[in-house]
Amino acid sequence: MNRRRFLKSTAAMPLLAATASPALMQLAKAAAPRSPTRRFRPGDPEWPSEADWNKLRQTVEGRLIKVESPLAACRNEPNGPSCQEVLKRLKNPYYIGDEPGLTQTSGWVDAWRSAPSVYAVAAARTEDVVAAVNFAREHNLRLVVKGGGHSYKGTSSSADSLLIWTRAMNNIVLHDAFVAQGCAGKQTPQPAVTVGAGAIWMQAYDAVTTRAGRYVQGGGCTTVGVAGLVQSGGFGSFSKNFGTAAAALLEAEIVTPDGTAQIANVCVNPDLFWGIKGGGGGSLGVVTKLTLRTRELPEYFGGVFGTIKAKSDAAFRRLTARIVGFYQEQLFNRNWGEQIGFEPANRIKISMVFQGLNRQQADSDWRPFMDWVANSPEEFVIEAPLFIVDIPARHFWEAAYIKKNYPQFIVADDRPGAPEGNMFWIGDSGQVGHFLHGYRSAWLPASLLKQDQQSKLVEALFASSRHWSVSLHFNKGLAGAPEAELAAVRDTAMNPAVLDAFALAIIATGGPPVFPGIPGDEPDLTSARRHAREINQAMDELLKVITQPGSYVSESDFFERSWQQSFWGSNYPRLAAVKRKYDPGGLFFVHQGVGSEQWSADGFTRLPERV
Ligand SMILES: Cc1cc2nc3c(=O)[nH]c(=O)nc-3n(C[C@H](O)[C@H](O)[C@H](O)COP(=O)(O)OP(=O)(O)OC[C@H]3O[C@@H](n4cnc5c(N)ncnc54)[C@H](O)[C@@H]3O)c2cc1C
Repeated sequence: MNRRRFLKSTAAMPLLAATASPALMQLAKAAAPRSPTRRFRPGDPEWPSEADWNKLRQTVEGRLIKVESPLAACRNEPNGPSCQEVLKRLKNPYYIGDEPGLTQTSGWVDAWRSAPSVYAVAAARTEDVVAAVNFAREHNLRLVVKGGGHSYKGTSSSADSLLIWTRAMNNIVLHDAFVAQGCAGKQTPQPAVTVGAGAIWMQAYDAVTTRAGRYVQGGGCTTVGVAGLVQSGGFGSFSKNFGTAAAALLEAEIVTPDGTAQIANVCVNPDLFWGIKGGGGGSLGVVTKLTLRTRELPEYFGGVFGTIKAKSDAAFRRLTARIVGFYQEQLFNRNWGEQIGFEPANRIKISMVFQGLNRQQADSDWRPFMDWVANSPEEFVIEAPLFIVDIPARHFWEAAYIKKNYPQFIVADDRPGAPEGNMFWIGDSGQVGHFLHGYRSAWLPASLLKQDQQSKLVEALFASSRHWSVSLHFNKGLAGAPEAELAAVRDTAMNPAVLDAFALAIIATGGPPVFPGIPGDEPDLTSARRHAREINQAMDELLKVITQPGSYVSESDFFERSWQQSFWGSNYPRLAAVKRKYDPGGLFFVHQGVGSEQWSADGFTRLPERV
């Protein structure tokens, strides 16, 4: 029996336990794979020898690297030119992404700190990933996978680990009529794109939209990794019309813990396919490439930006009530996504995006609300009048066009020789390298928008915003999306609560980067913890009006207690079964990942089984 078939057969063992004879049980026990109880660290006698590492280096044709944080330069000479250069570059997500020893979030107070792995396989092909997975399994190493490095929770970072770094696997191929392997005759050919696991969304948008005039559902932040986002579920600004990135997945190649590269789609390994569609990155294997459906591009993408301040608490309540009602009447549909923020200083910040409309239509959608505000100058100040823009959709991610026409919206990669296309939205710049103080999120059920429920929601938003700014991300709750998109999302591992939610409420904050080695690398923990408490108080107010709270795995609380329920709801048992089948030895561990409850917080020690 080959190893793959053997693993498949052992996955059926719990079923066997209910029915088999004692002799058969004995046999099954003997055949069960030996599950490691701990991962080895440098200094342990079992840590691989130099000769072992050299063998791996040869297998991956030299692409094994010893990982050093570039901030090491700062430890010896904090004011030296090398350190100063690195510090400057920490504001650039493209630079961070190109460094295997760094992550896009530098840490989270009392939760985790970014730490370089000991070695990294800078994978360039599937065979490199296979070699690294086999090496980690055979030597019992803590394995980490990193693509874009944007995990808020540090799931692509661990000291004393071996890193599989997919950054170089960024090949992109477009298809006119894609049919998944094994699906001939069962699937209608459709336009699609195959993207290497290390690609970031900017690269995908460049290939699909700028060059080919099509749309692919990806992330809002251009430097997020494709594989990490798809496995999270994945929302972009236009998800209210196109659904999640995971729902657009047609096929993936994935290296499973047994070291085989498997195809996963609806016809081949459908359980694994379902599991990677929103089941969270880094828990089931290493995805090496993904094929996503592409769609027709709308004519325009656009945005509406503005700020209104209420002059009293009573006026702010009225403003909150009006904008909630206005959202329900005018914007609760497939055209509108992104955010409205409610701030403690009685301010409402509008940064909404639209698709399928033009500037005039967007303007007329907003006119009734703005007229209402303008009619009460004694109550409201329009601090930033509405700025409405539309951009021909094909130019939306075209760096040269945006740099020329809307330089105020973007920041370019300023390293000498950086590719022209390397840009990111200015709104994401505050998060580059940041150190988190707190991060909470909750899906808000669409039932709260009903006439007789709105006052409850308004009161909760008001009470919450007394503690911290609350931002409603309408594109991250899919109520109001077209039925076909909802059906596709229903067939993913995400918490079904996303389908009935009109928005994801996010309450979060952080400070400047805190990488080890950085001068002044000790943040002000007292104020960071105070912020965390205030964020919790703000979220508690919102939770009062949600009966079954759920939140988005990739944008949620590191300290979430019922994370299985919160991130996956009724899908968790099925996801856990996929994990048991493909990764019975727990090689793939991430904080709050499926099956991680069996391991210590650092993923190094298997916890004793609960009887
Ligand atoms: C600034 C910022 C903006 C964001 N914006 C959005 C947004 O607009 N929409 C949204 O939905 N989310 C957003 N997120 C959340 C983001 O989608 C997730 O954190 C996502 O998992 C990041 O993927 P990555 O490859 O960049 O990160 P990584 O940290 O590299 O990976 C994230 C997780 O996926 C795993 N992983 C990565 N590659 C692979 C692979 N090839 N195979 C298996 N596992 C893998 C890692 O092990 C890790 O557990 C944002 C995050 C940040 C920090």
